[in-house]
Amino acid sequence: METAAETNGAPAWVDISVPLRDGMVHWPDNPEVRITRVQDLERGDDATVSSLSLGAHTGTHVDAPVHFVKGATGVDALAFDSLLGVARVLEIRDARAIRVAELKGHAIQPGERILFKTANSSRGWASKAFLPDFVYLSVEGARYLAERKVRTVGIDYLSIGSAEEGVPTHQALLGADVCIIEGLDLSSVEAGTYDLVCLPLRIAGGDGAPARAILRRR
Ligand SMILES: [Zn+2]
Repeated sequence: METAAETNGAPAWVDISVPLRDGMVHWPDNPEVRITRVQDLERGDDATVSSLSLGAHTGTHVDAPVHFVKGATGVDALAFDSLLGVARVLEIRDARAIRVAELKGHAIQPGERILFKTANSSRGWASKAFLPDFVYLSVEGARYLAERKVRTVGIDYLSIGSAEEGVPTHQALLGADVCIIEGLDLSSVEAGTYDLVCLPLRIAGGDGAPARAILRRR
């Protein structure tokens, strides 16, 4: 597996997506993740073929505006520019939430792609159980980022918003055409500026889709 170390003088790509696995952690009221072999070379079948059964918001994924805004855009119609290009990883000190006061210290500019590395990255994905006290973006923080006209926000657990305030947090972002990437694993990257590649599956009209996401240091 590649690391953040330089190879042949060029920074390597780092995988910041979470492996999809049978039985992995998921949002409490979303479908269970089932990945099973329906044909298997080991059992004498001609090929190995898996069945996937999972919610659209499983693991590393992108939320589409239609996830929380009636009649809005689906995941297949998101602008590639939201998910490809320069991104900034910000390390969040607050162990409970991403709040306006801390955001103000990062001079966030219009059009930026911002990925939040929080305490989630070091604890969230090691647990098979859902962690209700994950670090989330506050509603005020979401409104602040929408006003700053950021292009994209990413978070290192299953939702950008808390269990209690997830709806207004998502609405503030998706209603302002801010793209949301959730379920990132930023444990192996530091704060800084990177190239981001994140491509969600082209699910027609989808409210969200699993994605592969990678970063390369600039
Ligand atoms: Zn979401």
